[in-house]
Amino acid sequence: MEYGPAPEDADRARQWISEQGATFGHWINGAWIDASHHFESVNPATQETLAMIGQASSSDVDAAVAAARQALGPWQALGGEGRARHLYALARQVQKHARILSVIETLDNGKPIRETRDIDILLVARHFYHHAGWATLVDEELPNSEPLGVIGQIIPWNFPLLMLAWKVAPALAAGNTVVLKPAEHTSLSALYFAQMSHDAGLPPGVLNIVSGDGNAGRELVEHSGINKVAFTGSTSVGREIREATAGSGKALTLELGGKSPFIVFADADLDSAVEGVVDAIWFNQGQVCCAGSRLLVQESVADDFLGRLKTRMQSLRLGDPLDKAIDMGAIVDRGQLETIRSYVEGAAKEGASCWQAGSGVPDQGWYFPPTLVTDVAPAHTIATEEVFGPVLAVMTFRTHSEAIEIANNTRYGLAASVWSENVNLALEMASKVKAGVIWVNCTNEFDAAVGFGGYRESGFGREGGIEGLWAYRRGSLDFQPDENPPADPALPQRPAEGNLLDRTAKLYIGGRQVRPDSGYSRPVAGMDRSLKGEVGEGNRKDIRNAVEAAHGAAGWGRGSAHGRAQVMYFLAENLESRADELAKRIKELTGTDGEQEVTVAISRLLYYAGWCDKFEGVTHSAPGGRIVFALPEPIGVMGLICPHSHPLLGLVSLMAPAIAVGNAVVVIPSENAPLVATDFYQVLETSDVLAGVVNIITGSRPELAKELARHDNVDGLWCAGHHEIATEVERLSSGNLKQTWVFSGERDWCDANLSQGRAFLRRATQVKNIWVPYGE
Ligand code: NAD
Repeated sequence: MEYGPAPEDADRARQWISEQGATFGHWINGAWIDASHHFESVNPATQETLAMIGQASSSDVDAAVAAARQALGPWQALGGEGRARHLYALARQVQKHARILSVIETLDNGKPIRETRDIDILLVARHFYHHAGWATLVDEELPNSEPLGVIGQIIPWNFPLLMLAWKVAPALAAGNTVVLKPAEHTSLSALYFAQMSHDAGLPPGVLNIVSGDGNAGRELVEHSGINKVAFTGSTSVGREIREATAGSGKALTLELGGKSPFIVFADADLDSAVEGVVDAIWFNQGQVCCAGSRLLVQESVADDFLGRLKTRMQSLRLGDPLDKAIDMGAIVDRGQLETIRSYVEGAAKEGASCWQAGSGVPDQGWYFPPTLVTDVAPAHTIATEEVFGPVLAVMTFRTHSEAIEIANNTRYGLAASVWSENVNLALEMASKVKAGVIWVNCTNEFDAAVGFGGYRESGFGREGGIEGLWAYRRGSLDFQPDENPPADPALPQRPAEGNLLDRTAKLYIGGRQVRPDSGYSRPVAGMDRSLKGEVGEGNRKDIRNAVEAAHGAAGWGRGSAHGRAQVMYFLAENLESRADELAKRIKELTGTDGEQEVTVAISRLLYYAGWCDKFEGVTHSAPGGRIVFALPEPIGVMGLICPHSHPLLGLVSLMAPAIAVGNAVVVIPSENAPLVATDFYQVLETSDVLAGVVNIITGSRPELAKELARHDNVDGLWCAGHHEIATEVERLSSGNLKQTWVFSGERDWCDANLSQGRAFLRRATQVKNIWVPYGE
């Protein structure tokens, strides 16, 4: 039986556009501000011009940031409950305006009305409701933190209003004000939302919208009046933003691209898995950051599964997105359509086979049919690059370890979907696949209470849940790096050459003392400027060896937390047995109270030893019979640039939380007193710390910090240093988008309120959310 047309009525949406003269300015301080330049917003399904959209200039961005700054005080003065009332009102408004919002979104983006109506807008309302609650709870639940200030937010075009909600709701709940720039292809729903919020009583200046292309985005990112950039978009632009904000003191979260695996085991419910694939790659025409764009299917069922999938593809209906019976709408614009085409043509040239369902493609508008690409090798472009379209690359595997290897063979790590009726196997896969979200026997599940975000080049930070709220607060431990570098360490008066023999401390790599690759050493002076010894001059090769050794110690993170706790207690005990010797060394090199420093370092080790088996995850009950395990996982291999002062306590304060949760670390100790660190590795050697978990490289802190920052196998980097090093660390970290935390080393490291706590553990982990459905 043929489907008849079932179009949604678009008259009210079109009427709203024409009431604005089909020309939009920017929404600043609760009013429309004319734009001096405009560009077209086009309906991708018909290629008609819907409206002219303002291109923000630097003065428009200035005005928006100024309005947000002015609104900040009064917004915060409302208190949690006052802000909650506004967020609740926004949720209600979204529900009341759901129909027109869905239609505007479909007209502007080309996505099926069924999706905007039944998914996007419902999730938008849910997000505002959920965060209304957080507004009242944030001060109680996120103690010792405060709002960041004015937030600059930049969003993509694939879920225009949903991405706005994911950004705006937590930022406002946490007590910030916002300047948001929607994507140039899809500004209309954000502009409607701004006006709607105002009509619902949101105070002027709390939410400002400036529209425009990447240039407007750049103006916002670089504006000195904002305190944070929250970005969702492509990895390449994310990288550019990481570099542009380096050293600015602006907080940053990046939600970037992906190439997510969809893994089907032979024992899966194959028909359900076929429906899963349809949702994973053909929902929103595949223009989804977490799209399951790599199908990994177990060899023994591959033919059967692909046969079923092709049959299902034949019934997918492509056409007018306003038609309620349509499965796939239009691609957002001509450029994106060309990109998708060129990926598919490129796949064929690389030797893959492409198959498209025979269902008709409309003559008018920008459409691309659902496409299956087989005969794909893991190195093919179609298997490695994000296509951002309805194109599925298929590969097969034999064993579950091969599946893990292929799944993790990507620079991204946003999501994965695992299909098996064997719960043990599915959860084993969930623990081994490196991605921020894992869906077991389901896909594309989202909820405001559950964090969303990636590993590796899929970005850092989470949106949703308590993790997402933290991303909009400043903790009391987040001191900005100091402006000026501390004075160079005093150079010693060198005694006669002969006395130097055998006084050079080696580097510590992979559990062994090794000579530096350079063959050089540097003198270390005492307070009396006499030579106290020499340490190795580490270089890039030493860093490479240390990072490799740290990767070799991955068993530390996979092992039991109880085991890690025992080792850390033992470490504290062994440090205590050498307390006098280390205290003397500290006093001789820094002139400070070495005894106190060693005593606090021992307490700090005991403190984090206690945390090892207690820093755990939570479970969420998501709608629709899903349980979600939100588990903190170690970041991986971390670089630690220790503070200048407190050569033992500074090192222990960074190392202990990082290894307590399972990371392996490469430590660059204080340049002032590196002999304390080399004495400390003798304690490590006797404490059963797995070889490679802690590596210590002495030498020039700024140079070694740069090597760590540009190393693509370092996953996270903490830098307790001055502004110059911090800037370089942030800038150079853009290569693999490693997570960085730069902060002042000039704090009282003995004061537990300033120098230890959960915040360190939170920064040493990333949350993986594993969705598991239950019920028959
Ligand atoms: P894009 O990076 O080209 O653009 C995203 C936004 O950034 C737009 O608003 C754009 O105007 C702006 N922009 C462009 N250049 C800029 C610059 N130099 N400085 C500041 N802003 C700039 O991405 P897109 O094509 O709009 O969206 C698709 C990408 O977004 C995909 O890679 C997709 O995976 C990603 N995405 C990620 C998530 C997530 O949560 N991880 C969600 C949706 C989309």
